[in-house]
Amino acid sequence: MINSKKVKSFAKKCGADIVGIGSMDRFNGAPKEMDARYIFPDAKVIIGLGFRIPRGYLRGIEEGTHFFQYPAMGYAHINEIYAPGVIRELCCYLEDNGYEGAALRNTGGRGPVSDMTGAGPAEESPELGRKLTYFEPVEPGKPAADVQIHFRIAAYICGMGEIGWSKMFLTPEFGPRQRFAFVLTDAPLEADPVFEGKICDRCKACVSQCPGHAISDNKPVRVCVAGRELEWGKIDEWQCFFAYMGGIKEINPFLPRDAFKNIRDGEAYMRGEKNPSPEQVPELQKILRTYYPNACGYNNAMCGGRGCTRACMVHLEQQEKLSNKFETPFRKRRQWRLGM
Ligand code: SF4
Ligand code: SF4
Repeated sequence: MINSKKVKSFAKKCGADIVGIGSMDRFNGAPKEMDARYIFPDAKVIIGLGFRIPRGYLRGIEEGTHFFQYPAMGYAHINEIYAPGVIRELCCYLEDNGYEGAALRNTGGRGPVSDMTGAGPAEESPELGRKLTYFEPVEPGKPAADVQIHFRIAAYICGMGEIGWSKMFLTPEFGPRQRFAFVLTDAPLEADPVFEGKICDRCKACVSQCPGHAISDNKPVRVCVAGRELEWGKIDEWQCFFAYMGGIKEINPFLPRDAFKNIRDGEAYMRGEKNPSPEQVPELQKILRTYYPNACGYNNAMCGGRGCTRACMVHLEQQEKLSNKFETPFRKRRQWRLGM
């Protein structure tokens, strides 16, 4: 007979670094379009699997000399190759024990509620360049497909850590340095308690070091999950996306200084002084992709999480809050920045 201990040990043997289990009632209050119970109504639990981003994947960006490996290995490989293989093994293991496993891998694809903008089905999605109204429920009472869970809230539901001020999910093992995949199952497994520790101390290093000025210093977002109030800083998702794609010159050595010369306010965008409007993002994105081709089907990840990942990780390592320890600190030199 399988139990939580056996399932966790199997998932770790297959390659997950951390595993947590949450009960389905913790989705109470979630919007229908983000409620995992609509994907698998008979599921008893959600199994969360965390896959570390090895610290060295960020080394080339930290030194400013090698940008390709982080999006290729830190995003595409974990999300598209490594994690799907592990969740497949786990689904087969559950199946061999008489239970169903429904896999939820990480994806850039969006459901009717975008997890970037929170845009509802009738709203314009700048990312898709059209309205989302074509989504249609298959029968009354069901949400429109594709239901897409909020991965960070799901990780909280599985008891794996907390959402920091940066909106990044922080675990006691790796801080902000992991990606997630999930499996819903009707196996009657025991759930872990929700995380009661405190990792984020509101140091706001994520805010001050984000090149896109995308994380608010003082505007909180609050949601209620599993009877607890979660809070993070309001994120300007499109400004983050623009910086992350390499739109801010000081962090992008591939971007010529006159790349946006034909775009109104292009220089101000490049200096991070003004945010492009969502309607301008596709055009800017096209330009950015010509200077740094997107070879692996993923976004450029040019900022290398300077604020929300690296600054946070450096801080949490200094505070000795993480169990994944190193002989030497990550930050060894002054941070580089390009001038305009
Ligand atoms: S950098 Fe500081 S404030 Fe930001 S998420 Fe990390 S610990 Fe929290
Ligand atoms: S991904 Fe980059 S731009 Fe976005 S919040 Fe993190 S540091 Fe800022």
